[in-house]
Amino acid sequence: MIPDRQQPPIVIAGAGPHGLATAVHLVTAAPCLRDRLVVVDPAGDWLVQWRDQFARLDIAHLRSPAVHHPAPRAGLLMEHTATHRLPTTGARYGLPTTEAFEHFCDALIDHHRLGSLVTSGVVVDVLAGSDDDALAVTVDVGNDRCSTLIAERLVIASNPSKPNVPEWAQDLPSDVVEPAALVDLGCIGDLGEVQVLIIGSGLTAAHLAYGAARRGARVTMVCRGRLAERGFDTDPGWLGPRELDRYQTIDDPAERLRVARAARGGGTIPSWMLGELRLLAESDKFTIVELAEVALVDRSTEGAARFDITTSDGSQRSVSVDRCWLATGTEPTLDAFPAIDRLRGRIPMVGLLPIPCRDLTIGRLPVHVTGRLATIELGPAAGNLWGARQSARRITRSITGLDLELEADVARSPGRPLSGRPFVSRT
Ligand SMILES: Cc1cc2nc3c(=O)[nH]c(=O)nc-3n(C[C@H](O)[C@H](O)[C@H](O)COP(=O)(O)OP(=O)(O)OC[C@H]3O[C@@H](n4cnc5c(N)ncnc54)[C@H](O)[C@@H]3O)c2cc1C
Repeated sequence: MIPDRQQPPIVIAGAGPHGLATAVHLVTAAPCLRDRLVVVDPAGDWLVQWRDQFARLDIAHLRSPAVHHPAPRAGLLMEHTATHRLPTTGARYGLPTTEAFEHFCDALIDHHRLGSLVTSGVVVDVLAGSDDDALAVTVDVGNDRCSTLIAERLVIASNPSKPNVPEWAQDLPSDVVEPAALVDLGCIGDLGEVQVLIIGSGLTAAHLAYGAARRGARVTMVCRGRLAERGFDTDPGWLGPRELDRYQTIDDPAERLRVARAARGGGTIPSWMLGELRLLAESDKFTIVELAEVALVDRSTEGAARFDITTSDGSQRSVSVDRCWLATGTEPTLDAFPAIDRLRGRIPMVGLLPIPCRDLTIGRLPVHVTGRLATIELGPAAGNLWGARQSARRITRSITGLDLELEADVARSPGRPLSGRPFVSRT
C-alpha cells in the first residue's frame, strides 16, 4: 500500500545503495521530508539486490574503501565498525567487510526511520504535468493493481542496464550458459570434478572462478584481454579534481561518455584477488586463457557441451564444459527503465544514456538520475558507492537548497559562508 501524503511525494525508484544514499541525504538535510518520501522497489525492502549479489558470489568484503557508503560523512562507517566491534579486513584503505557494511546500512535505516518507507512495487509509467512542476508516477503494486501518485520529484535509482552477451552465446539456452547474476555459489554445494567455464576478466568473474575452485570444480577462465590488476573499479583520480576538473571542461557529452568509458576500461581485478587466482592457476585444475574468445559451442554430446576457444595467436583448444558462466558485465541504459518511455522524446541522450544537468535532472523534468545513468555528469565512478554520495548530495541540494558537503566544511572551519542556493530553482 502506498500511504497518502499531505504534500506531493518525492518518489525514489529503487531501494539499492543509491536510493538509500538519496533518502539518507534528504532526511539529513530536511528531516520533515521523511513524510514525503515514497521509495518503490519490487523487493519491498532496502538493499535486497545488494545483499543478494554479495551472498550469491560469496563476497567477504567490498572492493571500495570504507569512506564510500550511503551516508553524508565519510568517517561514519569506520566509526560504526569500531563502536560495534564489527569484523574488519585490515586491508589498505580499510576495505569494509560485507558484514560491517550491511550492519552500518541497517543502522542508518533505523536511525533515520527509513524502514517503513519502501513500498513493494515497480514504477511502470511516468507522465509530466503541462508546466513540468508535477509528475504522475504509476506504480504496479502486484495482483494486477496499479497506483498513481502525483509526485513533485522522481529519482531514478533503479540501476537500469542490459547484460553484455557475446554473440556466440545469444541463442544458447540457459542450461548451457548462465549469466553471472543468476549463479548462486552459496547454494551450489560441492562441484567436485565439475568442469566450469567462466567468461570474463573482472572481479565478478574472479569471485566466480575462486568460489567454484574452492568447491572442487575444474575451472577454465576465458578472458578477451589480459587479466589486469587495479585496486578499484576506476582509478582514484576519478573521485576528485585530478581527473574530474578536466572532465568537467569537456562540453561535448558524447566525448565525455567516450572518456568515461575509456577510463573505466574492461574488467580489472584487485591484487588481493589476482594473487589468489595466480596461485590457483599453479594447479592443473585451474586454467586462465587470456586474449581468447569462444569460437564455437557444440552441444551434440549428452550432458556436457564442447567449447572451442581461439586465442589471439591463432591457437585453438577445446574444453568439455558442464557449466558456463557469463561474467561479461552490463551496460547502463535508460531503455531498461521503460516507465520513462512516454517522456523519452524530451530527454537529451547520447546513445543509451541521458545527459543530466548539474543537479542530475534530465530534460528539464523534475526527474533526477543516479548511478551509472549519471555517468555523463559524474564520470566513470558514477555507479559506485562514491557516485551514490555525489548524486545524493546534488539531488538534495536541488530539492532542499542545502549542500551537505559544504555544511560539513563549515562545521570543520566555521566562518566560511554557505551557498544554499539550489542548482536549479524549482520553487
Ligand atoms: C557483485 C558486485 C559488487 C560490487 N561491489 C562494489 C563495491 O565494493 N564498491 C562500490 O563502490 N561498488 C560496488 N559495486 C557497484 C555498485 O555499487 C553496485 O552495483 C550497487 O548495487 C549499485 O547500487 P544501485 O542502488 O544503483 O543499484 P541496485 O543495488 O541494483 O538497486 C537498484 C534497485 O532498483 C530496483 N528496481 C529496478 N527496477 C525498478 C523499477 N522500475 N521500479 C522500482 N524499483 C526498481 C531493483 O530491484 C533494485 O533493488 C558492486 C557491484 C556488484 C555487481
